[in-house]
Amino acid sequence: MNTKDLEHYKAKLTSEKAELESELQEVGEKNPTLKEGWEATSKNIEVDSADENEVADKFEEYEGNSGILKQLEGQLTEVNAALDRIAKGTYGICQICGQPIEKDRLEANPSSKISIKHNHKA
Ligand SMILES: [Zn+2]
Repeated sequence: MNTKDLEHYKAKLTSEKAELESELQEVGEKNPTLKEGWEATSKNIEVDSADENEVADKFEEYEGNSGILKQLEGQLTEVNAALDRIAKGTYGICQICGQPIEKDRLEANPSSKISIKHNHKA
């Protein structure tokens, strides 16, 4: 892959990363003591609230945020791995067969690490 293409995908990945991080901040906060880095939060959670319904709502919000957070974290991990492959010079190479990944596919999903053909399930 030429430098111009690499720069193009790097820019896409970098903006995707910024977007994911700002979405993560909506549902969680960065926790440097956790390996994963993020943990779900519920805004204004009050565990000592007298209103049981309110507590249940907050808990539901936390559960929902937790699910979203996991999904976003997974995407962020993929994006970071792709940026890492750019740095190492292995970006755009299929990890199954070693052939270049289709440009259309990278355009649609710049963190792809395998070619379209391997996605087809019999
Ligand atoms: Zn392949």
